[in-house]
Amino acid sequence: RRAATPRLTASTCCYCGVGCGVLIESEGDRITGVRGDPDHPANFGRLCSKGLALAASAQSTVGRALRPELRPSRGALRRPVDWDTALDTVARRFADVISEHGPDAVAFYVSGQLLTEDYYVFNKLAKGLVGTNNIDTNSRLCMSSAVTGYKLAFGADGPPTCYDDLERARTVFFAGSNMAYAHPVLFRRLEAARAADPSIRWVTIDPRHTDTAAVSDLHLRIQPGTDVALFDGMLHHLIWEGRIDAGYIGRGTEGFDDLKRAVRDMTPAVAASICGIDEEDLRTAADWFAASPATLSLYCMGLNQSSHGTDKNLALINLHLATGQLGRPGAGPFSLTGQPNAMGGREVGGMATMLAAHRDIGNAAHRAEVAAFWGVETLSERPGLTAVDLFDAVAGGRVKAVWIVCTNPVHSMPDIGAVRQALQAAEFVVVQEAFADTDTVPYADVLLPAATWGEKNGTVTNSERRVSRVRPAVGPPGQARPDWWIAAEIGRRMQARLRPGTPPLFPYREAGAIFDEHAALTRGRDLDMSGMDYRLLETAGPQQWPLPAGSLHGQARRYEDGRFATASGRARFHATPYRPVAAATSARYPFHLTTGRLRDQWHGMSRTGRVVQAFSHAPEPALDMNPRDAARRGLRAGELVRIRSREGELVLPLNTTDDVPSGTVFAAMHWNGRFLNSGGINEVSNAAVDARSFQPELKHAAVRVDKA
Ligand code: SF4
Repeated sequence: RRAATPRLTASTCCYCGVGCGVLIESEGDRITGVRGDPDHPANFGRLCSKGLALAASAQSTVGRALRPELRPSRGALRRPVDWDTALDTVARRFADVISEHGPDAVAFYVSGQLLTEDYYVFNKLAKGLVGTNNIDTNSRLCMSSAVTGYKLAFGADGPPTCYDDLERARTVFFAGSNMAYAHPVLFRRLEAARAADPSIRWVTIDPRHTDTAAVSDLHLRIQPGTDVALFDGMLHHLIWEGRIDAGYIGRGTEGFDDLKRAVRDMTPAVAASICGIDEEDLRTAADWFAASPATLSLYCMGLNQSSHGTDKNLALINLHLATGQLGRPGAGPFSLTGQPNAMGGREVGGMATMLAAHRDIGNAAHRAEVAAFWGVETLSERPGLTAVDLFDAVAGGRVKAVWIVCTNPVHSMPDIGAVRQALQAAEFVVVQEAFADTDTVPYADVLLPAATWGEKNGTVTNSERRVSRVRPAVGPPGQARPDWWIAAEIGRRMQARLRPGTPPLFPYREAGAIFDEHAALTRGRDLDMSGMDYRLLETAGPQQWPLPAGSLHGQARRYEDGRFATASGRARFHATPYRPVAAATSARYPFHLTTGRLRDQWHGMSRTGRVVQAFSHAPEPALDMNPRDAARRGLRAGELVRIRSREGELVLPLNTTDDVPSGTVFAAMHWNGRFLNSGGINEVSNAAVDARSFQPELKHAAVRVDKA
């Protein structure tokens, strides 16, 4: 008998912001294989270990949410119900809360894992129908400091760079990014470029000796949270030595004199002492940065997840502007998005601090544009609740009903003890999830089973602003449904209750219609993608924005003409005074705790945690500690240790390694309640946030470590 030929479906990997193209092989209702798409411009056929395990993760329905469930009262067990009952119940309970307490008494907490079409419908539901800006996302935990940095410096969100710059850069700075693990396919592209030209220099800025640092020419092993001092000290050195690009500064920027005054006292000696590094290394890094024909900075959570993450972004951008390392091939500040569609969420305005298509809530003209487009009277001008404040408001009773979509805040939020208390205090909790065994699902009054990767149709936007199609290879199991469908069905029912007789806001029958509406709303904006639709993505492949109507292709780099998106057209320097981490170490909590990723795991392991081979690299959770610190405390590798902070505690096995410096400990962020008798490392993280981006300081806590 001849073996059946598998169907091939072109799609996009669901993990990181690299956005690799994949070809899914399937037979019947089963995904049988996944390989890299040789035609996709992000990866040209390459996949990392996570992408290669996609088929294995998709083959299991263990742990999947397969049917809607409802509990009649707190304390009762959830019971299966039909979809109509679940949808009607959510619509009625939300409408009742809104009618009684106003629109800001409900909130939505969504996800950078959602497709753009899902995100768009949820944002319209919250801001257009309900009239609240209380919609935030786990992307707040991931890249909101990068957004704020770009907007303040350039006048608009979005990286000025593209993946082609990876091959064109002559000096590469990895700042707060273990790119070898977190964005491996792009790292492979860098490795190939350096193999072809060994004169390319790499500099890593990281407290840990990561695999990225191990292959760099210079490793600046700074104290946790001191990045701003480093960048300001480098700038001071370049100004003093006359190595800045006065021509570029004069032509295309503003605010340099103020910045110059602000960094006057941050000499290389002072900066090096704050950072705990050699002063000569700081000077060398600065000289390489300025002198290179093209310097590219690649940065991620080490800059963003900080109580002064915006300043960290701005201080690095200051260096690029001061040296003219921007707006040409191979040069620029390039924030790597962690999640597969954090960029798409930013496009549709699916956060509490923004409106659709990079518009601002505080701008009356922007609100009027979106309201007119959606056919609603007005949009709320009240600022929405960002992630940490949102759960605080739930705990305090100001938000009575919360709808959590495709994310696991009882693992990923800082101070998860506080999040548990909030969900216990809420009047009504809806969890929309593909998986029924996450740490958050036990708090659900209603569980709505969602389709997931391999089953969904839509688009995602990767780190270089490139929109790729996500296509279904198989149907969802059980009664699971696409996220946009669930949002639209409940939206229709809520509209009938809250605004009866008004023109339908959610008329969608398929994902393509949602994309078309989203693209039309971007017309005339900096991210204009009005020339993009599913047909173009089908025939011409993934496309970068901006791509206005009439264009044949998108724009690879932004600001090449030296004009920025600010009112003056000039990029803005910002003074970035160094501030220490929010939770200072002390005699009681003497260790800096920092967190990060493992090579083969993804986020809360909903998918990768079901694949055996994903555990071969790191088979069990651990706290990494320098051997000298362990010896001083009489701790031995392999034994259990209790990690305590002011917020909470957890127990992990100890691993001793020189990869962490003395005084710092490290734990991976993935392990959660499925693997531990705690929610994971965020039991001990603190809820301090950046004052402008509202991003929490997940990268640092002050802890003590004792034998368990
Ligand atoms: Fe997926 Fe990211 Fe790996 Fe590419 S690099 S295969 S997008 S996890």
